[in-house]
Amino acid sequence: MSLPLHSFQYDAIVVGLGPAGASTAYELGQLGMSVLAFDKQVHPRYKVCGGGLSARIERILPADFKTIVEATVYRVQFIYGGTDSFIVESPQPVAYMVMRQTFDQWLVEKARQAGVEIREEESVVAIQELEDGVEVATGKGRYRGRVVIGADGAMSVVAQQCFPGRDVGNIPALESEYHGNTPHAFQGTHTVLISLRGAKKGYGWIFPKKRGLSLGVGEFVRGGNRPKRSFEDFIRHESALAGLSIPSPVGHPLPIAHHQANRFGHRWAGSLVRHRAVLVGDAGRLVDPLLGEGIYYAVRSGQLAAASVATTLRDPRHRLEEYGTKVEAEFGPEFRVASRLGAIIYGLPRSCHWWAGRTFPETYQRVLRRYCELLQGRETYQTLWTKILQRLRGPFGRSSPGS
Ligand SMILES: Cc1cc2nc3c(=O)[nH]c(=O)nc-3n(C[C@H](O)[C@H](O)[C@H](O)COP(=O)(O)OP(=O)(O)OC[C@H]3O[C@@H](n4cnc5c(N)ncnc54)[C@H](O)[C@@H]3O)c2cc1C
Repeated sequence: MSLPLHSFQYDAIVVGLGPAGASTAYELGQLGMSVLAFDKQVHPRYKVCGGGLSARIERILPADFKTIVEATVYRVQFIYGGTDSFIVESPQPVAYMVMRQTFDQWLVEKARQAGVEIREEESVVAIQELEDGVEVATGKGRYRGRVVIGADGAMSVVAQQCFPGRDVGNIPALESEYHGNTPHAFQGTHTVLISLRGAKKGYGWIFPKKRGLSLGVGEFVRGGNRPKRSFEDFIRHESALAGLSIPSPVGHPLPIAHHQANRFGHRWAGSLVRHRAVLVGDAGRLVDPLLGEGIYYAVRSGQLAAASVATTLRDPRHRLEEYGTKVEAEFGPEFRVASRLGAIIYGLPRSCHWWAGRTFPETYQRVLRRYCELLQGRETYQTLWTKILQRLRGPFGRSSPGS
């Protein structure tokens, strides 16, 4: 039996309603586009994620987002296997903690209020390119739109079908949620803990929530990863977790930006836009290769995509590829530095943290403070890299005061 064809022509069909899809749909709705958006699940739904938002996200989210924030973080503790602790504090927020089920549902409601037609529990299974648009098939029907937005995460169906032959290497990451009274070490100033020994070529993290903790590990190299074992080692070594009964973690792939391709002249335009299909968020592999931060880039790429889709549909002199060019300009140089830093830090975590911390404690403390300023949007990876190079020269040469 063939599926019914809903012949109504939408301007855009959005596949997936995580932060990337919900933001794209919301922005398109605000721009007056007719939008149909699908999710295979029903919100609120659990998503494997730490729910840590770098504070700079407040510049790009609707102003009332703080109503759904669980904890505001002013303090980050960097540690190596339970020892050699460095603490960075700031009077301004460094990060905001959310529960993904609440955050994502809040974004979906924003999209609904902007006039987006939302269809949940409807999984997209196929996309067919038409001359002047696309036909999207779900288990319940077929729908036509002028553009399809792939916002369906790390295992994106849109990416697989519309971008064949694309590199799909993901790295493994695990998360567990402890529900109970927040341990003393994470109360008050709301501390985030980052352990550089917490994972092989990666890190372990503990994020405070209103009633408990989110914790996990991410390993930032492909192949040879044993995240389950790293997770067990991590919770065994962290004194902050002593006595807590931590549930088994859940895994999910993390599609970090493919920096090697970038190094050899790769351009985002071709990997994010093809014919009438556009990829945003994890579907486009827009995850920071140092930290594994994806939510900021999901929201921001959704905004950039929505602006380009609306401009292109209204004015044929524009091309969808402009979205890829904007992503390249805004994220490309940042991700390249982030992956360079990741190669150094995760390649030699003991030297970076333990040795640098003991040999040049003040310089190291400053670098960590700069990193927190990056999360606040007061630094970029590029300016941070320049300052690190200046600081490294410091012990051997002269460094400018106050830098
Ligand atoms: C363990 C772990 C911890 C993390 N912690 C953080 C963190 O603290 N901070 C941070 O910034 N990032 C974190 N990330 C990364 C972050 O979770 C992702 O980058 C972010 O969720 C990307 O958003 P998205 O909207 O692109 O994709 P997703 O959030 O994955 O959303 C995709 C949506 O598409 C839907 N979907 C999928 N397939 C279909 C289909 N065929 N049809 C219809 N719908 C479909 C799904 O149901 C889902 O709702 C973490 C990731 C992992 C794995």
